[in-house]
Parts: sequence; C-alpha cells; structure tokens
Amino acid sequence: MADRVIVAGAGMAGLVTAARLRELGRDAVLLEKGTRAGGSMLLSSCVLWRHREWDDFRRECPSGDERLKRVVWERLDEALAWLRSLDAPVVWEETGNPRTVGKRFEPRGLVETLVQRVPELHLGAREWPSGPTILCTGGFAASPELVAERIAPAAPLRLRGNPWSTGDGLGFALDRGAGLTGGLDEFYGRNMPDAAWDETEFVSLSQLYARFARIVDEEGVEFFDRADVSWSETNVVQATARRPGARAYYLLDAEALEQRVRDRSVAELVTAAPPEARVPLRDLPFDAPPGVVVAVRTIASITHTIGGLRIDERARVLRDDGTPIDGLWAAGVDAGGIATGGYASGLAQALVQGLAAAEDAAASLGV
Ligand SMILES: Cc1cc2nc3c(=O)[nH]c(=O)nc-3n(C[C@H](O)[C@H](O)[C@H](O)COP(=O)(O)OP(=O)(O)OC[C@H]3O[C@@H](n4cnc5c(N)ncnc54)[C@H](O)[C@@H]3O)c2cc1C
Repeated sequence: MADRVIVAGAGMAGLVTAARLRELGRDAVLLEKGTRAGGSMLLSSCVLWRHREWDDFRRECPSGDERLKRVVWERLDEALAWLRSLDAPVVWEETGNPRTVGKRFEPRGLVETLVQRVPELHLGAREWPSGPTILCTGGFAASPELVAERIAPAAPLRLRGNPWSTGDGLGFALDRGAGLTGGLDEFYGRNMPDAAWDETEFVSLSQLYARFARIVDEEGVEFFDRADVSWSETNVVQATARRPGARAYYLLDAEALEQRVRDRSVAELVTAAPPEARVPLRDLPFDAPPGVVVAVRTIASITHTIGGLRIDERARVLRDDGTPIDGLWAAGVDAGGIATGGYASGLAQALVQGLAAAEDAAASLGV
C-alpha cells in the first residue's frame, strides 16, 4: 500500500474526499478538529447547485478562475449522481431557482451516508501527522482576527457557520509556500436579525428580502439601492459589513410586506425575527421615510470566505509561480478562485474538488 493520505476537516469536502479515496482503494485518515463531522454542511440548506448556463456563472462570478469554475460546472452533475449512488438522501430534485440546477440533500443523512464510507475518522484532532495531505478545513470565517485582517469589516461580523474553521488549512499551506487567490476580502453570508440566535436558526432567520426594502445604515444613509441587490443578496451583505456597526436597517412599506420569498411572505419573515431586531419607527436613530411601516435591524454575518488557496483543476495547491506543491491538495472553502466577485454553491465546489483531490492523490501515490 502506498502512503496513507491525511484528510484534514470532516465537512463536505473532507467527507467526500475520504470516501472517494477509500472507494479507490487508498488508505486515508480523516481528522476533524470539531466535536462532530459535517462542518458547515450539516447546518446548511444543503442545496448543491450550479448555474444552468455557463455564461451566467461567468457573469455572476466574474473574477473567479475560468478553468476552476469550468471543472465545477462540468463535473457537478456526475458528482451528484455519485452521491446518489451512495444512497445519500435527496429531498428536492430541483433547486427551485430557474437560474440554477442541482439537488437538495437532507444534511444529517448526507453526513451519515458519507461517514459510513470513511475508513477512519478522528474527532477533536488538533495535530496532523506528516504525509500527503488534503486540506478541507473550511476557510477562516470563524477566526475574528483573520476576518478583521483580510475582510476588514467596519465591526466584527457574526458567525453563521461552524465554529472550527479558523484558517488552519490556510496557515499550513502558506507555511509550505502556497499562493493565495484574489477575493480574500470577500465572503458569503447573510444579513441576520441583530438579536440573539443560534446555529439551529441560521437558515430560518436569514433576512433574505433586501430586494424589497430600503436599505439604510445606522446613520440614516440609504447605502444600497434595492434594484442592485443580487438574487443571492450576497452583495448587500458584503456592503453592510462595511457600514457602521456592520449593520443595516431594512425599511419596509405595506407593499413590500406582501411580497413572497419562496413559500413565505416578507411579513411572515419579519414576524419570525426576534422582537429585539424589530425596531419601532419612533426608536430609529433617523427619521423613517414616508410610507415605511416596519423596520428590522440586521447585522452582517459570515458563513464562509471566498478567497483562499491557489489550486489547479486537480486540486493541487500551487505556489505563486503556478507550480504545484508536492503532496498537498485543497478542496472546498480552503481553496479560492471560484465564486470571486459573486456567489456560487460552496457545497458544489466542495463536492467536485473533493472528488478531484482524492482522484489526483490516489493516482499520484500509485498502488
Ligand atoms: C446556514 C447555512 C446554509 C448554507 N446553505 C448552503 C446551500 O444551500 N448550498 C450551498 O452550496 N452551500 C450552503 N452553505 C455553505 C456550505 O455549507 C459550505 O460551502 C460547505 O459546507 C463548504 O464545505 P467545506 O468542506 O469546505 O467546509 P465545511 O463543510 O465547513 O467543513 C470544514 C471542516 O473542517 C473542520 N476543521 C477546521 N479546522 C480544522 C483542523 N485544523 N483540523 C481538522 N478539521 C478542521 C471544521 O470543523 C469542519 O468540520 C450553507 C452554510 C450555512 C452555514
């Protein structure tokens, strides 16, 4: 048997990587820092998607690396078929968004399906033995220091993802001479109610109706035109991060409250928000514009980073000069260069790159 492969991080990318390595007959150990497997994937809506049209992907993530994006776009359908072949539980056959295609899985069942196929999983792992390593540690969203340094929000962002992704993969690879992609100041997240919430509410409390609101900062400046809000609303979240307190007030008139976001009205979404975030108009720090009937105070929250390690189509980590570092791969959020300038499915990236990393590691290590 060739070298044992170390897979660091048992979220989406790591579970897929380790399961595929085993399928290919390779010896692998999956090391997870947290107290459970699943990473942010377990907390997610678990929709694995790609843009229906390649040109939309190009346009919506304009600064991503075309070759890396192409791999995700072209391989996702077969990768989803692979997941299905393992009996991972699908709950939607379509994404419900006409711009995208993909599937929604049941996250707990997906984690269980993959864990069963992993040869060896250690939880609470703090150190990695030396050897060929595939980094799947999920970026640095959970490190307030790295977020402050790289993303530079106006105030600390709330974390809307797993608590263990603190940039360990990034640090490990940088120590070995890895290069970084652009977009290190970008992130995927949501504006969430400015109130207490926990990880069970990450999905249900997302305030995903900026496109119907007047978007105003704490100083009363209307800083984002609702007409410019992207369908994923990621652009308004990133803009909110740069406003005072990393906060935004969503001001809604009667017509806005009647709009629908999937199966819920905006009024229902507002009512579901914790009362502390629903600010009486008389308590706003600025005069409410005419017609506004409801105000919700939101805070920018980070789910994961968008920039990361430079990799190639085989998920090999690259130096700045484009040469691969021997025995080092990265998949999922640890790798940058896909959604730069926009938003794309982090789970799709993790799945496709996890498969690519496993296959390249298996091939390069031989039998
Ligand atoms: C509420 C929510 C909803 C979402 N909805 C969607 C969606 O519908 N569609 C979509 O595409 N994406 C969605 N996402 C994003 C998606 O979950 C991530 O893009 C995806 O999980 C990234 O996979 P990953 O393997 O890179 O990171 P993760 O799944 O987060 O896994 C990283 C793992 O690495 C571990 N780790 C960190 N440091 C170390 C270390 N030093 N050693 C060992 N292990 C370490 C972490 O504990 C974690 O288990 C959502 C996320 C959230 C939180």
